[in-house]
Amino acid sequence: MIRASLSVPNGISGFWRFRKGAPKVRVYGGYALDDKRRFTGEDRAQRFLEAFRFDSVPANEAIAAGTPVGPLFAYFNNDSWTDQPFAEGAVLIGDAAGWNDPINGLGLSITYRDVRMVSDILKAAGPGAKPDFAPYAEERYERMRRLRFAGQLQAALDMEFGDTARARRHAYHHRRMSDPTLGMHGVAVLAGPEMVPPEFFTEDHRQRVLEAG
Ligand SMILES: Cc1cc2nc3c(=O)[nH]c(=O)nc-3n(C[C@H](O)[C@H](O)[C@H](O)COP(=O)(O)OP(=O)(O)OC[C@H]3O[C@@H](n4cnc5c(N)ncnc54)[C@H](O)[C@@H]3O)c2cc1C
Repeated sequence: MIRASLSVPNGISGFWRFRKGAPKVRVYGGYALDDKRRFTGEDRAQRFLEAFRFDSVPANEAIAAGTPVGPLFAYFNNDSWTDQPFAEGAVLIGDAAGWNDPINGLGLSITYRDVRMVSDILKAAGPGAKPDFAPYAEERYERMRRLRFAGQLQAALDMEFGDTARARRHAYHHRRMSDPTLGMHGVAVLAGPEMVPPEFFTEDHRQRVLEAG
């Protein structure tokens, strides 16, 4: 995966390319919510590819001049959650229990951990016994709170547009060179949210990361 986050005149930010075996790639791009009708109509896939034509990334010409071979889908970047993912006779896992903003790309990791935790609880309870899902609910509550926080920071940094957002992004990348702790939300995404101390999921930290510089 090649990932870049840019602020560019044509309003596409934070784009991703996934190699699918030459000469195919899958491309993702983020654009503003108030521009949500931008890629509609029959030629939307082609126009989406053309939006990757940036002066700062000349090699993107290969994408912009490409031929769409699959559909173009758009998704809102958001989270959903429940504080108690179980009830008498039922337990929710994966997206049904609440999803994390796809900007983090963690949906399957979250789902697999849910499966493991719920399976372990069911196995420990044994046949006929009432399983206690409270530890799963407690762990998931904090895990998703932290991932929600990380996703919100990433979205504010990579997926906001206009001069103010661009200046903040620029300042963030500069400040991060001398203070790597500003990027701890990225560690939470890559290594697991429990690997990062709790003080990096607070309003103080959010303000520190997002200050204009
Ligand atoms: C834009 C986007 C990008 C993403 N990128 C990533 C990524 O890079 N990495 C990552 O890990 N995750 C990513 N995800 C998230 C990931 O796809 C989901 O979190 C994951 O698929 C959730 O798994 P799940 O089993 O809970 O739900 P699903 O995969 O949605 O599976 C639920 C299944 O239940 C079926 N179903 C629904 N209702 C019924 C019914 N009544 N009867 C029978 N079957 C039913 C559905 O058809 C579906 O097959 C992304 C999501 C989006 C939207």
